[in-house]
Amino acid sequence: MLASLGCRNKSGNDIGVSIKVSFLFQLFAGRLNVKSAIVLLCALALAGAALAPMALASDRARPADIRVGVEQQGDGALQISYDLKKPRRALLFGELAAGHRVRRWEIETPGFVLDRLDDGDRITRIDGAKFDHVVISASPDLIRIQKNYQPVTAYGEGGVMVYTGHFWPLTARGERVNTTFGFTPEPGAKVVAFGARADRLTGWRSPMAHPAFVYMGPLAPVETREVMAVVDPAAPQWISDEFYMLTPRVFAHLAGALDFSLAVKPNLFLAAPLGREVGRLSYSGDALPAQFQITLEGGAWRAPSAKARAIFRRSTIHEAVHLWQAAARPGSDEVAGWIHEGAADAIAAETLLALGLWDAADFTADFDRARGECAGELRDGPLSTAAMRGRFRALYACGHVIAAAVSWAEEETVLDFWKGFIAEAKTGDGYTEEDFYDFVRDRGGDRDFVSALRYFVRTPLANPTREVARLLDAAGAPL
Ligand SMILES: [Zn+2]
Repeated sequence: MLASLGCRNKSGNDIGVSIKVSFLFQLFAGRLNVKSAIVLLCALALAGAALAPMALASDRARPADIRVGVEQQGDGALQISYDLKKPRRALLFGELAAGHRVRRWEIETPGFVLDRLDDGDRITRIDGAKFDHVVISASPDLIRIQKNYQPVTAYGEGGVMVYTGHFWPLTARGERVNTTFGFTPEPGAKVVAFGARADRLTGWRSPMAHPAFVYMGPLAPVETREVMAVVDPAAPQWISDEFYMLTPRVFAHLAGALDFSLAVKPNLFLAAPLGREVGRLSYSGDALPAQFQITLEGGAWRAPSAKARAIFRRSTIHEAVHLWQAAARPGSDEVAGWIHEGAADAIAAETLLALGLWDAADFTADFDRARGECAGELRDGPLSTAAMRGRFRALYACGHVIAAAVSWAEEETVLDFWKGFIAEAKTGDGYTEEDFYDFVRDRGGDRDFVSALRYFVRTPLANPTREVARLLDAAGAPL
């Protein structure tokens, strides 16, 4: 998930749209062998990124109203201190499922209480008085939070990764308070955030003016021309080999085909708490502006297999595509996730083919799978209501079909189409679904095709298989 549609996958679990940020979905579940509970969570934080309360740009010039200190403890836990410029009666935090904060946070400062609210959590003094300082401790959770980013993720050798958004106080109106963060790793460890690797960071703000992942621990990131990567040493060797083989090639390909390089050198984080479940093969990905994080779980990752390799490659490229798509974010969480999720899948397929990791038969088989899955997902209602109905796989599979169709209608690749779309959409305040249709129409001038596309997206289809074929015919599809 994310308008920041972060998409995450997790094994065998449910899917949903989070706090406007991410969702879980099962990937490939229908075609994998029964013993492998495989779930792919693709988190595209794009939608979420657009939706999550943004830090105000003007805040960057002002001293912070709240300073948050994050200090790594010896046991994987974090000590979090809040220093308020002006005393307040409460610290408010955004929604976080499963009562996570109540379970995993403890208030160290006496006389305070943490309450769950309908739409978040709140720290106050028990006597109701104002305060300007409070300290809590937070620890990683064994329960993966669905539909959202993990606040603290354990990495090998005592490292942790923090998602700052869950520790960042909100105003009563739900905006993020003007806040800076400080990070203090354990002695000998480093903090890694975007291009920085330091003994500690103080007064830090994300260069993306958005919540971010920050790593603290002993791992030395691998920095290339394109990325700063932190790979868990618990990851099997073949995975890290694959990661380092794949990412430079994919980044170079995407930068070339989309005709721009990322404004900020991105971070890639790979955690591998594989666990003991032998047959499990779960890939969870979360994308944020200029960052993505992969969590691999399940014993089936330990040894290389064609299936594991295929999921790893495809999912990793999907997440990488989101980094480029983030240059032109959806304008709100109302914007259909199929636009960017489907394109990320379609571009991943084109990239695998272009890099020689797939042959034409692989590419065709993958598209046939998307067609079939899309038709299946539309049996109970149209694509326009799929997310609301919890049919998140429709966004990927039907979005893939649509991404291919709109590019074929213009006799170009999906990457070509998105090169144009990003260039156009990044000049505005965030694109809408109408902007997408307008772009398709303006690019090709074929009103009939745009009408067919709208019909396909919005109409309950009595025979989805036939309608998928019609849409592709209208696009002049070569497949
Ligand atoms: Zn995604």
